[in-house]
Amino acid sequence: METLNVPTTSRIEFVDITNLIRDIVSGNGWSDGILTIYCPHTTAAITINEAADPDVRSDILKTLSKLIPHRDNYAHMEGNSDAHIKASVVGPSQQVIIENGQLLLGTWQGIFFCEFDGPRTRKVFVQFVACDSGA
Ligand code: ZN
Repeated sequence: METLNVPTTSRIEFVDITNLIRDIVSGNGWSDGILTIYCPHTTAAITINEAADPDVRSDILKTLSKLIPHRDNYAHMEGNSDAHIKASVVGPSQQVIIENGQLLLGTWQGIFFCEFDGPRTRKVFVQFVACDSGA
């Protein structure tokens, strides 16, 4: 398993970690299998979506914040209930198929670390499970 440290710079943001994940895969020589990208935090998440147009991620963040506002009639005293809810809606992990050492992402897809209560330095766990390539 590998651990990625992701520094964030805003309360809410998407950080494109696709190339960092690619570097981990190639650095370890991982070839054919399943990669799990897991966020061990209660106010952050992992998603896969369009990486080409940055307006897509800002539209997602804007919509999440409209649906789940920062301030509302929440009971949790820490004042970051919106971040907990956003993290649960988006989810803590993603899986990507690795074939011949390549991430099988669509042309426009990227892997994003989703910060909902930053800025801070976050961890992402990356675990690879090899599969028989069938060859
Ligand atoms: Zn909290």
